[in-house]
Amino acid sequence: MHQLQDFFPQIQEPKKVIITTHQKPDGDAMGSSLGLYHFLKQIGHHVTVISPTNWASFLDWMPGIDSVIDYEQDKEKSRLLIQDADVIFCLDFNILHRTKNLEPFLEAATCTRILIDHHQQPQEEMFDYGISDTNKSSTCEMVYDFIMDSGYGANINLDVAACLYTGVMTDTGSFRFPSTKASVHKMVAHLKELGLQHTLIHENIFDNFLENKLRFMGFALCNRMEVMYEYNTALMHISKQDLIKFDIKTGDTEGLVNYLLTIQGIKFGAIVIDRDEERKWSFRSKGNFDVNTFARLHFEGGGHFNAAGGRSGDSLENTVQKFKKVIQQYESQLQ
Ligand code: 5GP
Ligand code: MN
Repeated sequence: MHQLQDFFPQIQEPKKVIITTHQKPDGDAMGSSLGLYHFLKQIGHHVTVISPTNWASFLDWMPGIDSVIDYEQDKEKSRLLIQDADVIFCLDFNILHRTKNLEPFLEAATCTRILIDHHQQPQEEMFDYGISDTNKSSTCEMVYDFIMDSGYGANINLDVAACLYTGVMTDTGSFRFPSTKASVHKMVAHLKELGLQHTLIHENIFDNFLENKLRFMGFALCNRMEVMYEYNTALMHISKQDLIKFDIKTGDTEGLVNYLLTIQGIKFGAIVIDRDEERKWSFRSKGNFDVNTFARLHFEGGGHFNAAGGRSGDSLENTVQKFKKVIQQYESQLQ
């Protein structure tokens, strides 16, 4: 993988560009994709964003989201666009299987593949150019750096600003995680100078729940949470019936895992949700407990040091039992 800067000379010639990201894109995945989309369109490229799957409805306000293709809804069109592309940008993931059913098409693509990402252990051999930096708060911050370093900083308009702010804000937990370096605040200051309305974005993301989501959160905290004080760990499991009972959609469970870490002394929060095809884990930690390694070793996952995800093909009950067994190895680390 060559450095991203080596690609800059090619940015001037109009190209057919595809931007893609991980399945079930979150604020950073969609924010970085649409931020880059608005930027590249302005400088003359033909750009399409393809998401491997659907996304949470709390992102539907984002400028440009109506033009995003959901691969699962438009498979043939997605395939043809990928086949015909000159460049594919891969944002907010670093291993092709994170794009689920899009993986074989990305792998087969003969055009230039570019990586911009901040997760651990990138599959570098799959990319022609790129940057992988685990010190960065978010992929949105990295797209901002890409735009500024390419010499086209004047093309950051309000749409680019709103999209990039979304991912920086969501991936830093509203500017509280240790990844929130001075560079993050400098970037936000620049976006504010351009006219960014940050309050509106917070309202769009956090004050837009349907009643059922809030009731579901109350139910889950009351009935589905176990606190294991001996390991400073809190665990939550959500069954398929729970999801059906409360009419829970993509994105409605986001943020639930963070509540586990609000309990005094708790260092490790884990939630497992019974999705159709798999049991999906979200792991969060505080301080020096490495959930990226935990997810990789035990649940076919990965991510960041303090925030990671994983999966299991086993039943919900067995998956929870496995967690309770493996956590015993970490007693001293979690003390
Ligand atoms: P979340 O719990 O919010 O789904 O994910 C937390 C972080 O871990 C995100 O940065 C996400 O991209 C990453 N992540 C989630 N699931 C997986 C997975 O199965 N594999 C890998 N490598 N990363 C994941
Ligand atoms: Mn991210």
